[in-house]
Amino acid sequence: MSTIKAYGAASATAPIVPMSIERRSLTPSDVKVEILFCGICHSDLHYARNEWADVMPTIYPCVPGHEIIGRVVEVGPAVSRFKVGQVVGVGCLVDSDRTCPNCREGLEQYCPNFTLTYGTPDNHGTAPGTFGGYSESIVVDEHFVLRIPANLDLAAAAPLLCAGITTYSPLKHWKAGPNKKVGIVGIGGLGHMGVKFSHALGAHTVVFTASPGKAADAVKLGADEVVVSTAADEMTKHAGSFDFILDCVSARHDINAYIALLKRDGNITMVGAPEKPLPVAVFGLLFGRRSLSGSAIGGIAETQEMLDFCGAHNIVADVEVVGVQQINDAYARMLKSDVKYRFTIDMKTLKG
Ligand code: NAP
Ligand code: ZN
Repeated sequence: MSTIKAYGAASATAPIVPMSIERRSLTPSDVKVEILFCGICHSDLHYARNEWADVMPTIYPCVPGHEIIGRVVEVGPAVSRFKVGQVVGVGCLVDSDRTCPNCREGLEQYCPNFTLTYGTPDNHGTAPGTFGGYSESIVVDEHFVLRIPANLDLAAAAPLLCAGITTYSPLKHWKAGPNKKVGIVGIGGLGHMGVKFSHALGAHTVVFTASPGKAADAVKLGADEVVVSTAADEMTKHAGSFDFILDCVSARHDINAYIALLKRDGNITMVGAPEKPLPVAVFGLLFGRRSLSGSAIGGIAETQEMLDFCGAHNIVADVEVVGVQQINDAYARMLKSDVKYRFTIDMKTLKG
C-alpha cells in the first residue's frame, strides 16, 4: 500500500480539506494513474454532504472525484492495453462482477455488484469506502481504464468521464438525431455536454434554462432555440412537440411542466439526481402514452465510444480550471448555478 495526498470531507457538514489516504499495491491487472486533472461534478457535492442518505449513505471520510485524467505510472504484469507514460481516463466505475447479464452486455453501470470510483465498500480492503480523484493517484483494474484521444485538451476532457457519458448514453438510447426535437433542461456540467452531443448528433436542440444570462452561451454550445423556463408563455409554445427531453437539473423542480411538452410516445429521462423525490402528475403521462425514465452514467464500452466520438468531432467541456484549495468555493458557486460550465481541478496544485 502507499499513502498519498488527497482532499476530502470528514462529515456532512465539514468542508473539503487536505487528508492522507491509502492506495492498494497493484494486482496483476491493475494500472496506477498519476492524476493530472479531475472535474468537479454536482454528484461530488451531493455525496460529500450526504444528500443521498436514503439511497447511498456517505462513507466518511470521503474523497470525491470521478472525472479523472491522468498518466499511467505503473502497470501490473497482466496489463495488456496500457503502458507507462500513456494518458488515460477513469470515470465513475472502477469494478463490477463481470458475470451478471448487465456486465455481459457491457452495461457495467447497472451491475448489482459494481464498485463506484468513490463511496462504495472497497473490495480490496484498503479503506472502508473507495476514494475518488481529488487525490494524487488511483489504482484501477485495466478493464475500467479509458483511452483519451490525443487531440483533446486534457483539462477540458476530464468532464467527459462523467458529464460526457451521462448525457451521451441516454441521447443515443432514445435515438436523438436528425428529424428529432430534443430538449436539454439545466445548463450546468451535464446539461452543456448534452447540448453539444444533441447538436453533434443532428437533433433540433432546445435548451431550457432557469438562468436567462445563459441564453447566448446556449446558442454557442449548439442550441437551435433557448427557452427561459420561468416564463410560462415561452414554455406553452412548445406543448406536445418534443420527441425526447433530458433533465439535468440537480435540485427540486417541476418535471410536469416538461412532461406536457412531449409528443405522443415522447420520453423524458432524468439524469439529474435531486436530493428529494419529485411529484409526478400521472395524467401527463397517460394522455399521450408519454414515459418518464432514468439513466445512470454509461458502460465502459460506450464511454470509450463517447470519447472516440469526442475525438472525431473535437468535443470537450467548457471548463474553468481551479486549484484544489478552491474546491469549497467551486461548490458554493455550483449551488448558485454559477459555473461555466464545469470546474476542473488542476491536480498539480495538490503537490505545492
Ligand atoms: P450543475 O453543474 O450544478 O448543473 C445543474 C444545473 O441545473 C444548473 O446549472 C441549473 O441550470 C439547473 N438548476 C439548478 N438548480 C435549479 C433549480 N432549483 N431549479 C431549476 N434549475 C436548477 O450539476 P451537474 O454536475 O451538471 O449535475 C446535475 C445533476 O445530475 C446532479 O444532481 C448530479 O448529481 C446528477 N448526476 C447524475 C448522473 C447520472 O448518472 N444520472 C451523473 C452525474 C451527475 P440553469 O442555470 O440552466 O437553469
Ligand atoms: Zn459525476
